[in-house]
Amino acid sequence: MKIAVIGAGAMGSLFGALFAESGEDVRLYDIWEEHVKAINEKGLCIELDGKTRSVSVNATTDKREIGKTGLAIIFVKSTQTGDAARTASELTGNNGFVLTLQNGIGNADIIGKVIDPGQIIAGTTSHGATMLGPGSIRHAGTGPTVIGMWSGIQKTGIQKVSDVFNKAGIITETVDNVRSVIWAKLLINVGINAITALTGIKNGRIFDLSATKALSRAAVEEAMEVAEALGVEVPCDIVEHVFKVAEATKGNRSSMGQDVDNKRQTEISAINGAVVKEAQKLGINVPVNQTLTTLIETLQAHYK
Ligand code: NAD
Repeated sequence: MKIAVIGAGAMGSLFGALFAESGEDVRLYDIWEEHVKAINEKGLCIELDGKTRSVSVNATTDKREIGKTGLAIIFVKSTQTGDAARTASELTGNNGFVLTLQNGIGNADIIGKVIDPGQIIAGTTSHGATMLGPGSIRHAGTGPTVIGMWSGIQKTGIQKVSDVFNKAGIITETVDNVRSVIWAKLLINVGINAITALTGIKNGRIFDLSATKALSRAAVEEAMEVAEALGVEVPCDIVEHVFKVAEATKGNRSSMGQDVDNKRQTEISAINGAVVKEAQKLGINVPVNQTLTTLIETLQAHYK
């Protein structure tokens, strides 16, 4: 199965390199010329536990060089999903799969505007990666990847994709109800990302003041109400799970925190902002998520 990774930043480069190491025919596609040039000249450098290895993998800024692919994996930030979906559509045509493991909700629906929903696989991954510079990333964490068909049932196709992932050392499970899995991850991001981004704190600092912890709980509980109204099953102990994740990643700066620190556009509209959008459609009030969204939007509109 020929694989194209659309958006070869921290995560796309990592997954692409793992596929290349396991012998898959994989192409990285990114619009960042310096990064693509560095990968083609020196290989992709991956730092893991203090050691660095270089992986030979094909990268390009010209999608026409890639040709037809059986699987296109979208790993751009959610603000770029529409553009990446059009690229995926050109690469897969009517037959291949398009997979998103991006954070937040709404990505699969955006992809579904240009790709038959029956070709879309969505999911989450607990792998983590950080961009160190052109051609260089850190593999920051490992953990399970969970995928499922976005629409309908396609047992054989998705099993093949899962096999390719597992062969590459990306431990992957397939599920029937992937929306619940995506929402469960969303709730973690809802409880941690905007609060840490706005305050400059690391994840574990959410517990320093009882008021900060209560704010995180309120944001998650609002989002849970929206999930329930949409008929999405979320674990009832999800707030405790969010706190466990914040504790387990206490020394980390959240991805939204890193985006704000580097004056980049954040994924707020796919996280707290997406909760607000769904809540409005349902007539539910989500004042905490509305406030967090507006504050992040204000902050990123005034980057200097
Ligand atoms: P990143 O910013 O490192 O990479 C995104 C890449 O997309 C960049 O290299 C950028 O040049 C490229 N890009 C932008 N527009 C493009 C376009 N139109 N076509 C092709 N390439 C384009 O981001 P990341 O940290 O790798 O995150 C990617 C996604 O994965 C996000 O949705 C994020 O929430 C999710 N995610 C990240 C992590 C993590 O640890 N970094 C973990 C799980 C999920």
